[in-house]
Amino acid sequence: MSYDKNNIFAKIIRGEIPCDKVYEDEHTLAFNDINPAAKVHILVIPKAEYTSFNDFAANASPEQIALFYKAVKNIAAQQGLDKTGYRLISNHGTDAYQTVEHFHVHILGGEKLAAMN
Ligand code: 5GP
Repeated sequence: MSYDKNNIFAKIIRGEIPCDKVYEDEHTLAFNDINPAAKVHILVIPKAEYTSFNDFAANASPEQIALFYKAVKNIAAQQGLDKTGYRLISNHGTDAYQTVEHFHVHILGGEKLAAMN
């Protein structure tokens, strides 16, 4: 899968379409999901071009990966979710229904989530 520079998250990074931003630094952007699946539903994305978790884990540097996941943890803490709990989801590919081909992590929380079993 090659990276499509016209995917919706690439447009958000370039400021071509708006987002409800919750965090930004040099490498990372986070914003509220347009169609929330929980009371808090934040999408965290690297600004660099990776199509999915699989691509990011295979091709990003260890430093990029560490910085990204530290940012995810900090965003969850900023929202107060570390106290009550949260769920991370990252869909890769068609079986997982990935719909936007720019790597992203969903942070879900702010309420009691459905059990997974
Ligand atoms: P996926 O299904 O690829 O794991 O997740 C993509 C997510 O992006 C979905 O939860 C969807 O609601 C969200 N999304 C799609 N388009 C937009 C958009 O234009 N703005 C925002 N904020 N979220 C979007």
